[in-house]
Amino acid sequence: MRMITGLSRILIVCLFATLSRECIAADGPRQRSILVLEEADFRSPFYSEIFAGIRAAAKQNGKSDTVIYGESLDLARFPGPDYEESLVGHLKTKYALRSIDVIVSIGVASAKFLQKRKQDIWPAAPVVYGFVPDLPETRALFLPDTTAVFARVRPTHLLTAARAIVPDLTRVVLVGDAWKNPLVYGHWKQDFAAAMPGLEVTDLSDAVLRDVRKQVASLPARSAILTSAMYSDGEGTYYSPASALARIAESANRPIIMTSDTFLGRSGVGGFLLLPEIIGREAGEVAMRILDGEAPSRIAPFGGDNVKPIFDWRQLQRWNVDQANLPPGSEVRFREPSFWEQYYWHSTIVASVVLVQGLMIAILLRERRLRFLAQVEARQRMSELAHMNRRATAGEMTASIAHELNQPLAAILINAETAQHVLQGPAPDLGEVRDILDHIRRDDQRAAEIIDRLRSFLKRDPTERREIDLNATVAEVFRFLSVQAMTHDVELAAEASSSAIRVKGDKVQLQQAILNLVVNGMDAVAHLPDDRRRVVGRTSLADGNLALVSIADTGDGILAEKVTEIFKPFFTTKAQGMGIGLSIAHTIVEAHGGRIWAENTPSGGAVFHVSLPLAAPR
Ligand code: ADP
Repeated sequence: MRMITGLSRILIVCLFATLSRECIAADGPRQRSILVLEEADFRSPFYSEIFAGIRAAAKQNGKSDTVIYGESLDLARFPGPDYEESLVGHLKTKYALRSIDVIVSIGVASAKFLQKRKQDIWPAAPVVYGFVPDLPETRALFLPDTTAVFARVRPTHLLTAARAIVPDLTRVVLVGDAWKNPLVYGHWKQDFAAAMPGLEVTDLSDAVLRDVRKQVASLPARSAILTSAMYSDGEGTYYSPASALARIAESANRPIIMTSDTFLGRSGVGGFLLLPEIIGREAGEVAMRILDGEAPSRIAPFGGDNVKPIFDWRQLQRWNVDQANLPPGSEVRFREPSFWEQYYWHSTIVASVVLVQGLMIAILLRERRLRFLAQVEARQRMSELAHMNRRATAGEMTASIAHELNQPLAAILINAETAQHVLQGPAPDLGEVRDILDHIRRDDQRAAEIIDRLRSFLKRDPTERREIDLNATVAEVFRFLSVQAMTHDVELAAEASSSAIRVKGDKVQLQQAILNLVVNGMDAVAHLPDDRRRVVGRTSLADGNLALVSIADTGDGILAEKVTEIFKPFFTTKAQGMGIGLSIAHTIVEAHGGRIWAENTPSGGAVFHVSLPLAAPR
């Protein structure tokens, strides 16, 4: 019977707890509980980060299951004894069946509330105070069996940050209602006076937001705006501090110094900022120590490491702040990476590609230059060789020149004698003498032209391109060589095309090329019987826009495997040969955009072809 009574008692307790976590965890270690009492709204960024910090500390400890309850007192927005009374009643009812192992009180307002009402609601729970400044006034709020982790931005912190941003600072403007709370910023007047005796202070902590916006829009240079959290303005309108700050920043014409890192990035320049996540974590860690069995009275209140100078890089740029002026240990956030930092790899790759490309271009340009120089050199050599070649043939031509000169000279002599004879008569016919002298002059001109031709043939002229008559050019070569041909009993025949053929080029050079071919032809037939010694030159048109010259002989032809080799310099099969005639012809023809090739005729001789582009294609 007694056993049944014991069992039913346990069952009743479990029922009362409506299957609470304690009951479910009854087989494991007892679940521990923390109550976080925040002075303001949990949903604001600052207080939600504090809560997140406490939760992180509990998770990190992780020795046993810890439940965390949270309450927003929100006393700033809902002041007055009636609300406070109803709040106490609400909390008493709410937590009647929940044991609270430790309370983490966040903020001065929460500490004040606990001082007055803790006894009614959670008489036995130890307390860890967080987010309270270390001031005698706040310490006076602490109940027995409690401890604290202090967090505070001092008024002088704001001043130091302002002077880092505005080195010649003379004036500050105070914005935000927290300046009025001696438990938050203490006695800023005395602090400012001690730190900067001449500082002008405009206190707008009581002003209506729209007046604040107006005033901060036209502040003088050498001033800065020091903001504390603004929960309500002089009219009693409530704001979230972050949005109030954003609205002030919209119209402010001077840098804004702030107090929380949750405000950073919204147009304030920065300052010594409270780090709410760390505030929560530090208070949470102490709470966990108490849950683990440490007595709060044995943990002396201590200052946390929860304030850090942090600045917004973009604002530093805006206010032209030298980062060297910032307080030691400052952190700069939102730094926009420089072009170099952002595109380091892209730039390196592009630069390397450009470099390699540049290098290749430089090498190619050098190659081109070297090739050009080599070409110039080769052309020079070739022109020297051509000159030598011409001089060599000139000897053979002298006979033909002398033969050609003979005609006009003989005519001049006969005409001179005739003129003498006429003048010796009794009545000389002066008209006849004039005619004779005209003939003499014309013959003399002819002789001069022959000499000119020889001279221009031997001259080492730079290449000159003119439109020339190919038929006449070839005929002239055959005329040059006529005497030599006669001497060696070779029949020379030039068969010109019936249509005019005009090509662009250097007449002397082209004559040189053709002359070399004809001379080779004459060499090739030299050993044959008289009646078979024949060299024929033909000009014709081919494919509509090509001029053709072919020199055929009746010799033995070229060895089939040598038809291309014969154009190489110094290739010769002759005892006295130099082996440059064909290579010079080849160079000259190619320089004129033409082609030269050789083949054997079916009848046995060799034929050399030269094709050249027409001056005006048809
Ligand atoms: P060279 O006349 O001093 O030998 P060329 O360059 O004019 O130099 O000629 C090179 C070689 O080509 C000649 O030695 C000869 O073997 C061959 N050749 C040139 N023209 C003819 C031709 N009409 N018939 C046969 N072989 C020729």
